Amino acid sequence: MKPELAARLKRAAGANGFSEDPAEIAPHLEEWRSKYKGKSPLLLKPATTHEVSAILAICNDTNTAVVPQGGNTGLVGGQIPFDGEILLSLSRMKRVRALDRAAQTISVEAGVILIDVQRAAESADLLFPLSLAAEGSATIGGNLSTNAGGVNVLRYGMARDLVLGLEVVLADGRVLDLQRALRKDNSGYDLKQLFVGSEGTLGVITAATLKLFPRPAVRVTAFVAVPSPDDAVKLLSHMQAQTGGQLSAFELVPRIGIELVAAHIPGARDPLSAGSPWYVLLEAAGVEQLDLNRSVETSLATAMQSGMATDAVIASNETQRSALWALRENLSEAQKSEGASIKHDVSVPISAIPSFLQRATAAVLAVVPGARPVSFGHIGDGNIHFNFSAPKDRSPDAFLAHWDEIQRIVHDIVHEFGGSISAEHGIGVQKRDQLPRYKSALEMELMRTLKRALDPKNILNPGKVIAL
Ligand code: FAD
Ligand code: ZN
Repeated sequence: MKPELAARLKRAAGANGFSEDPAEIAPHLEEWRSKYKGKSPLLLKPATTHEVSAILAICNDTNTAVVPQGGNTGLVGGQIPFDGEILLSLSRMKRVRALDRAAQTISVEAGVILIDVQRAAESADLLFPLSLAAEGSATIGGNLSTNAGGVNVLRYGMARDLVLGLEVVLADGRVLDLQRALRKDNSGYDLKQLFVGSEGTLGVITAATLKLFPRPAVRVTAFVAVPSPDDAVKLLSHMQAQTGGQLSAFELVPRIGIELVAAHIPGARDPLSAGSPWYVLLEAAGVEQLDLNRSVETSLATAMQSGMATDAVIASNETQRSALWALRENLSEAQKSEGASIKHDVSVPISAIPSFLQRATAAVLAVVPGARPVSFGHIGDGNIHFNFSAPKDRSPDAFLAHWDEIQRIVHDIVHEFGGSISAEHGIGVQKRDQLPRYKSALEMELMRTLKRALDPKNILNPGKVIAL
């Protein structure tokens, strides 16, 4: 990078707003799974919307590419600068701007960590329901840019459903203020939703106004043994009907998932005495403990009578609840410790999950006999993390050599079931070249048209999501 350009950008980012120190930049260049590694000469860390705006105006003028980054927990390589782009970290934009109890809204800057939004809501006795295992590092800007999901989508929706207003800096530096925090607004196109899920390719999100909810006074969490995914799907309808819509989470976990978590995560253990091929971790939230307990217990009892569940444990205090959730939340970490894995983040219609699992698992095992299926996830949303750990007797590299072949097979089956090749993690670089195979030519054309309209010089996260 030319020294004059670097000097202009550093000036725009403010006194503490940049680094050229390789040691400081290094952690921003590698993602969580160490699957992608990038390079960048300059890390910019603006603290205000005004500074972001000044930086992008310079980048646009000089055709300088920028990669926005929040907590660097993305799983598809979207936040990594592969070609020496400038890294634009929003991590210093950490202010909670306002919390309106009566309107049940919170306005935060893009760099606020998800867990801090949850805590701010809690301190006003309200709930911000977006929750995922990376919530201690992921930022709201990243959550919105990836339209993150997580474990409460069943009841509260994805990040997209939780946003009322947005502040975005466009590629040329203009600030688009869409912060009207209205529950109802039918005045033309809903522009803010364009930026949600656009993975930093259409604009840089600098702030958002988010929906808050009444904090459920009580929760009941149960870990339930089920004979098969088919029974899990039946249990979902049963519990939804029996609890009157109070289910907030419904997660599928296979036996091997519990074994991996017990093996790799200190303190984790199987809470049920007899092994089961599959489990469901479910949670219901309401206002009255006795009522909610009774309704969950009764519906689990009838589920057991009809055979869709074989055993269950209900957490009787917060420590037990956390221990049950730890079994689910540590699955990715445990699978990582177990060694190489090939992963898919897919969705299909809920009723198709059992057939999808059966067909796709058989298809993968035909290619790599001995691969260990570790399929888990948000079955209540039709979203499965369809993962495989390497066979015990295969080298990681020999297994990973099948990555593209296996992804193609799995994604083709997903497509046949009318599903999506990315349910919550996005496209980034990882799935960019697969997208045209599964989207219509017209969808791809409209996506390119939008990208060209909003970022004519292709400076915002170039090469991510779509190839121009
Ligand atoms: P980053 O990783 O920094 O960036 C992600 C993308 O957003 C990149 O394309 C980046 O360019 C863009 N971006 C970031 N900030 C901005 C901004 N302010 N403006 C414009 N573009 C921006 N995801 C789920 O949906 N559900 C889960 O359950 C889930 N579980 C996870 C569990 C683990 C252990 C890990 C490591 C990740 C998980 N993820 C999950 C993925 C990840 O946490 C989410 O994608 C998260 O929303 C990313 O936030 P981030 O701040 O880390 O963004
Ligand atoms: Zn997930």
